[in-house]
Amino acid sequence: MITKIDHLGIAVKSIDDALPYYEGMLGLKCDGREEIESQQVRTALLAAGDVHLELLEPTSDESPIARFLEQHGPGIHHIAFATDDIHDQLAQAKGHGVRLIHEVPFVGAADKLVAFLHPKSTFGVLTEFCQAKH
Ligand code: ZN
Repeated sequence: MITKIDHLGIAVKSIDDALPYYEGMLGLKCDGREEIESQQVRTALLAAGDVHLELLEPTSDESPIARFLEQHGPGIHHIAFATDDIHDQLAQAKGHGVRLIHEVPFVGAADKLVAFLHPKSTFGVLTEFCQAKH
């Protein structure tokens, strides 16, 4: 079951360049920065109440975020829904004929299990499911 919007992913060329806007201008608090090697990205999580913004910076030219920036420029990259059972959520999506980018969840930012649905199946919105590990 989807429980809430967990975060919005935002592609940026440089987290260091973007943080003064989010922290200084908007006054959001950075909850942590990390590098996710499997996805070739660096992330920074900013709390906006219960929802986070996830800034995504590529660490290599082959990173999915590097390709996104090339095609679209910086901006909103994905929406992430929190779910209480990511495996069930993926099975349901598959059952509805939705194309999965990841059949098997992997460990993403903030040590959560995550998996993505293809935007061609989701009316143009790259969609992430995420579940806190217990
Ligand atoms: Zn995300």
